[in-house]
Amino acid sequence: MIKISQNSLQLLLAVWYFIGSFLFSSYSFAQKQIKADSVTIMRQETQRQFNLDPQQPLTDRVRVTSPETLQMFREAGMSPREHELTTDERSQLKQVLAALPPLHQKVLKEHLRSINFLDNMPNTALTTTLNSSSFPVFDITVRAAIFHQTASEWMTEKERTCFKAEGSSLEVSCDIGSLSALLYVLLHETTHMVDGTLHLAQTSGFSKGIWSDRTRITAEYSPALFDSTRYRGGKPLPIRQAPSLYQSLSTTPFVSLYSTSSWNEDLAEYLSVYHFTQKLKQPFRIILRDNGKEVLVYEPLKSKLVRSRLKEMKQFYQVPAQQG
Ligand SMILES: [Zn+2]
Repeated sequence: MIKISQNSLQLLLAVWYFIGSFLFSSYSFAQKQIKADSVTIMRQETQRQFNLDPQQPLTDRVRVTSPETLQMFREAGMSPREHELTTDERSQLKQVLAALPPLHQKVLKEHLRSINFLDNMPNTALTTTLNSSSFPVFDITVRAAIFHQTASEWMTEKERTCFKAEGSSLEVSCDIGSLSALLYVLLHETTHMVDGTLHLAQTSGFSKGIWSDRTRITAEYSPALFDSTRYRGGKPLPIRQAPSLYQSLSTTPFVSLYSTSSWNEDLAEYLSVYHFTQKLKQPFRIILRDNGKEVLVYEPLKSKLVRSRLKEMKQFYQVPAQQG
């Protein structure tokens, strides 16, 4: 018969508890390691499948547009043509890619297969997801004409498509400074890639209380006029409705009319406007003029409601650019 004193029993229990904890944490560590290894294998296999070299500098990933994308534009009645970059355009692209936020750089390095430039394509840019795996791979196709536009010129042109202005003395413009349109457009499109990889619009606090699903805005931030705009399934509005529309926009947390299309566009717009105004100190003003005289100016980043989402942008800037 073995006699165990009270002290020895306590010691024995402590030793067993220690061994148990050690075995359990070793087991969880091993499980995590297996999971990390399988993610690495999937990443490497997917990159091999799409001929994507994560070590290749982003500027060297300019390639001709895929036949699938070209076919899609042709079916939409367009005749897109491959655009060969000039030396100036190539150096503009290099600067813009280097200026993207750290999280964008990290995601693009691993997930961006190619950048293509076309003349005569209908929209400004198109991000294509090439697979349906949990490790997505992207191509981005950009209208080459935007190399020669400032961000203000490009955005004004886009904003004016929301209105029918013939015969009116009213005119809408956007003042977002004289940096390149390419920078704004690539900030926007590559945010879609970050979002498509990490699902930030859906899972972060960014959409909470604002979106009930991808395309449905909560009742609190969905003024009646929103659903008449072309970004929410409507048509260009008579420009006389612009003052009420921008007045409505100013009661919501959205930075632009385009933000109201979906939570993905909302995130891409917010990040782009945030980067332009807060990081690059550019203006962001939507201006309505009547016979050349300012009758309404809306600066979204001066709105308390819009600013309440600024904290959600930190996650894009806290990742070291060279990591991963
Ligand atoms: Zn978009």
